[in-house]
Amino acid sequence: MATKAYLWRKALAGLLFPQRRCLNCAALSVGMALCPRCLTTLQQLRVCPRCASFIAATETADYLCADCRSREQSFALARAALPYSGELRQQLLAFKYRDRAGLRRGLSAVLLAAYQHHYRSFLFDAVVPVPLSAQRLQARGYNQVELLSALLSAELELPHHPEYLQRVRDTQRLYQMSRAERARVLQNAFLASSVVEKQRILLVDDIYTTGATARAASTALLKQGAASVCVLCVAASHELADDVQAE
Ligand SMILES: [Zn+2]
Ligand SMILES: [Zn+2]
Repeated sequence: MATKAYLWRKALAGLLFPQRRCLNCAALSVGMALCPRCLTTLQQLRVCPRCASFIAATETADYLCADCRSREQSFALARAALPYSGELRQQLLAFKYRDRAGLRRGLSAVLLAAYQHHYRSFLFDAVVPVPLSAQRLQARGYNQVELLSALLSAELELPHHPEYLQRVRDTQRLYQMSRAERARVLQNAFLASSVVEKQRILLVDDIYTTGATARAASTALLKQGAASVCVLCVAASHELADDVQAE
């Protein structure tokens, strides 16, 4: 088992990549995915104790977001690196529609920084990306989230298992739907393999907005006996944000 100091060194090394600008603020940041200021932001932003939604800095320590107050979440914990806005949003959209190797390494370094901040004391048996449906995979040729989770799992020296989870329903028109419609459509959209039994899963996605995808995918893994599911995303929205278009 790698020590925490070792993992931190790897995280910082993992932040080195041949890009000249910070992925979150576009400031000059030679060789680093995030500039020092954005790395500090990542470590200081207030987040809901259960899900990945960012919350106001003025909330009390035990404050739960409205969504977590209104329902039981299937995942044990969900976390994201930074808010889904501005420069990072542009970079994620660029990555979603045209993969670039530099962007892939940079965004996986952002994921790694979030992992080191939120999950460094956790133990996981497998890293699993949120899958695309077969139709969408065929149309695009690759799952962009899987590109990130593969690099992350290599950095963490954890097994990478995309085959643990399948998307059995095509849900590509989610962005046009309301929160309630999304939840209904996503129910039974995922199917997990029975080999996940007793495994502690780190589920990786690019963006956390309403949490509907993370909940549905976690439910499928838990149904097959996974011991626990924790979610890690590059970006998440602020609590009650209207922008739910990306999931
Ligand atoms: Zn920055
Ligand atoms: Zn929450």
